[in-house]
Amino acid sequence: MEKIYQYIDENLNRFIEELFILVRQPSISARWEGVEDCCKLLTGMMEKIGIKPRVLPMGGKRNPPLVYGEILNPEAKRTLLIYGHYDVQPPEPLDAWDSPPFQPTIRNGRMYGRGTADNKGQFFAHFKAIESVLKIRGKLPVNVKFLLDPEEEVGSPSLNEFCRQNKPLFAADMALNSDGPMDTSGRPRLSFGNRGVLYVEVNAQGANMDLHSGNFGGPIPNPAWRLVEFLSTLRKPDGTVAIEGFYDNIVPPTPKEKEMMAKIPFDEKKFMEKYGLKKFAPPENLGYMEKLMFRPTLNIAGFTSGYGGQGSKTVLPCKAMLKMDMRLVVNQTPEDIFEKYLRHMKKHGFDDLEVKMLNTYAPSRTSVDHPLAPRFAEAIRQGFQKDPVLIPAGGGSFPGAAIRSILNIPILSVPYGNADENNHAPNENLAIDCFKGGIRTTAALFFKLAE
Ligand SMILES: [Zn+2]
Repeated sequence: MEKIYQYIDENLNRFIEELFILVRQPSISARWEGVEDCCKLLTGMMEKIGIKPRVLPMGGKRNPPLVYGEILNPEAKRTLLIYGHYDVQPPEPLDAWDSPPFQPTIRNGRMYGRGTADNKGQFFAHFKAIESVLKIRGKLPVNVKFLLDPEEEVGSPSLNEFCRQNKPLFAADMALNSDGPMDTSGRPRLSFGNRGVLYVEVNAQGANMDLHSGNFGGPIPNPAWRLVEFLSTLRKPDGTVAIEGFYDNIVPPTPKEKEMMAKIPFDEKKFMEKYGLKKFAPPENLGYMEKLMFRPTLNIAGFTSGYGGQGSKTVLPCKAMLKMDMRLVVNQTPEDIFEKYLRHMKKHGFDDLEVKMLNTYAPSRTSVDHPLAPRFAEAIRQGFQKDPVLIPAGGGSFPGAAIRSILNIPILSVPYGNADENNHAPNENLAIDCFKGGIRTTAALFFKLAE
């Protein structure tokens, strides 16, 4: 390993220059800008390293090009599937950047530019780990496959179906995802799962136009009240969700998962100060981590109706709209919860409301007792020279859950981004130390998995 690490040190500046070529190419999936050009650039880079790329159009009107890659060794006993995405978020607002988003630059040991951390720099670390191992050892000790998503930043609308239809292609013993930030303590993280999400929009209609609240108020129904009445049926006074069967399939944390949660660095007092909070949401008998990782939510993401501008406008609105996201945990499914949501509406007499399901991701969790998990932790220790924080399940959602729930491959997340990577925001950046630690970690992981 020492020779490999030395190769990484000696070539780090070139690795950065190569990553910058990728960052200079915009690939904004939200407005389909440069994604196909980025795909070409990417497959060329993979070929140069020795990873065999295949561009797989995912169908539909836009036909997004998923990039599959493989590098196989007939003697290897295990296969690792690596998930990443090569699309990026729109860079706006442009004037909030200290340097242009698609002209990557280095300042204070960090690489700045859209996609440096989310996610080009992170999957590129895997590429460079492969190059380093090949240069020193001539071959990889494991088979490696890549699934590089072209539309993660818009919710990967084609991924589930594509995985369903191409299961054998992606077959692997284990999967790795490196995206997002490390722990705020500066330590790397090893995460075993994610919550899923079900996003719905509910619309209520009153009259066919906004009306004067005096000249018409009283006899005319107000759709905002209709949504408020509906909302009030969704939650019990203790803060739990009142939809029948909502909690049916959820699994409480095991003693080992509880132990992991207790070890996550978290200063409750500081946290509350930082966000200006006086108390946490109910129920009170559960801790912060358990609520975040093992409990589903029913969140009001938006409520729009009537007049919200300056001063007063005496209006009786004709429309009201509600956006809700539900974070789901194992073993809830978005489909089942949506059905229960609809049933609840019907049961309480809200058939008049119009409901749309906007997007979903399944929740995913890999067992914390998975026999290969300690090898990931060991690789992180070698790569970053720090002990990883073990996360039983992240609070957010991630389209790669398709890997766990559809391809049925245990997946672990090891983010290589610094905690303040500013992903999705101006001045996105990846610390060079994190990039290097990531390359080292992936290289170490190949050997740990082969043992
Ligand atoms: Zn992102």
